[in-house]
Amino acid sequence: MHTFDFDLFVIGGGSGGVRAARMSAQRGAKVGLAEVSDMGGTCVNLGCIPKKLYSYAAHFSESFEESHGFGWVGEAPTLNWDMLKSNRAREIARLNGIYVQLLKSAGVKIINGWARLVDAQTVEVDGQRYSAKHILVATGGKPSLPDLPGIEHAVSSNAMFDLSPFPKRLLVVGGGYIACEFASIFNGLGSSVTQLYRGHQVLRGFDEDVRAFIAGELEKSGVNIRLNTDVAAIEQRGDGLRVQLIDGSHTTVDTVLFATGRVPLVEGLGLDTAGVKQNAAGAIEVNERYQTSVPSIYAVGDVTARVQLTPVALAEAMAVVDDLFGPPPGKQPRGMSYDFIPTAVFTHPNIGTVGYSEADAADKLGKITIYKSNFKALKHTLSGSTERTFMKLIVEDATDRVVGLHIVGADAGEIVQGFAVAMKAGATKAVFDSTIGIHPTMAEEFVTMRDPFKP
Ligand code: FAD
Ligand code: NDP
Repeated sequence: MHTFDFDLFVIGGGSGGVRAARMSAQRGAKVGLAEVSDMGGTCVNLGCIPKKLYSYAAHFSESFEESHGFGWVGEAPTLNWDMLKSNRAREIARLNGIYVQLLKSAGVKIINGWARLVDAQTVEVDGQRYSAKHILVATGGKPSLPDLPGIEHAVSSNAMFDLSPFPKRLLVVGGGYIACEFASIFNGLGSSVTQLYRGHQVLRGFDEDVRAFIAGELEKSGVNIRLNTDVAAIEQRGDGLRVQLIDGSHTTVDTVLFATGRVPLVEGLGLDTAGVKQNAAGAIEVNERYQTSVPSIYAVGDVTARVQLTPVALAEAMAVVDDLFGPPPGKQPRGMSYDFIPTAVFTHPNIGTVGYSEADAADKLGKITIYKSNFKALKHTLSGSTERTFMKLIVEDATDRVVGLHIVGADAGEIVQGFAVAMKAGATKAVFDSTIGIHPTMAEEFVTMRDPFKP
């Protein structure tokens, strides 16, 4: 019988890789994991976590303003950017250490370095070869910037957490998750922010009402959104970066952030050598068991470019672990369902969404009924803020199921998580109607929307 160095060799210590390695080792498998950088991957080092910490920091500016309406008097404190950066770095380093410790105590052998596939059951890291019965590729993605004159003067989201000095004038290019979140965050931290998007409205793919509403709120909060335009060229000048737009206008800023999407991180991974197939966009192709075209090689997370979210990478990893090493005693193997994946965009205010947009529901489900609400949250009756909250429910007429739920408002991510459970369970509008609200909250509006929207 052939013996291998490992039962499972994981390439990439990000969300998907760490989860798969740790849980496989806990089920008794002999596991190796190669990571070229800090443990935890994009989410921990350059994504979800530092982004959310900076979002908290940014929210204080509005809180200081709003406090006056509640009787607080005095000058607002000012931001010490260097202190925020170093506090963040300390917390991320702590998390890196926890991830390493969790892996080690589960018995995973950590190999620091760049890994590449040699064949269906061999991986090489820094000249050292390891054989494995199964290999999991979880190498994630990286920012993708367009090729245009002066692009070398621009940065990706990777650089935003440690900018020095703090950008007084920031141009954000793109209309997706990262562009909208960073526009909000740096606006809150005190930058003068312009957001440029090539399309007619930010956040393509989200419900049209949500897109229009958040754009309005971002504008109200101070973000200057410019639609239907793009960058033609960037030039370094004495007074900053002079950005030429395709409409002939120009602007001068300190930092240009391109948040123009992410691509799978596959260069130098040896996919060709091992015979692993990729799609036209470079993403690794997998079947419903996350097996690539080489049956002993699996792939999960952003490198497969399906739904680029940490909880999705985690769930995919768990499906692979259960498949390869069996579920925990007494449990069924976990499958992965891509229906009703809840998501939040951490703009100010947040967007929370689960299920269909109105357009997709009408297209795929036929007759639907829409419920909408647009109101000023109780807090803002005294805060002086003009921020409003938007909520929307989409109900499939044939079944009465709530198939879409959307909110633009404070803590939307927190609110939507619970509703996503109800919607996965098939909750109908009648169930929503019979649920008692929690008063006074914003979320109670979702169970008190009685009158269908009439255009
Ligand atoms: P990653 O976490 O990217 O991990 C891949 C790892 O593989 C990296 O550590 C890399 O160094 C390593 N690696 C790559 N190639 C090799 C190699 N050949 N050898 C050794 N190591 C290698 N998602 C959310 O759900 N919520 C959020 O709020 C959120 N915010 C985000 C904010 C930003 C700015 C960004 C960029 C992303 C955000 N995401 C968020 C997305 C989330 O971070 C990703 O979906 C998630 O990290 C994907 O996990 P992964 O395991 O596929 O890859
Ligand atoms: P997205 O795909 O969300 O958005 C990319 C944006 O850039 C789109 O508006 C796109 O326009 C635009 N764009 C693409 N190419 C160009 C170009 N050449 N010139 C000008 N504009 C361009 O990617 P992000 O980088 O924002 O984020 C990547 C993924 O990371 C997200 O999709 C999400 O899955 C994940 N993420 C999740 C977060 C969360 O959960 N809160 C936060 C951050 C990231 P168009 O729409 O016209 O194609």
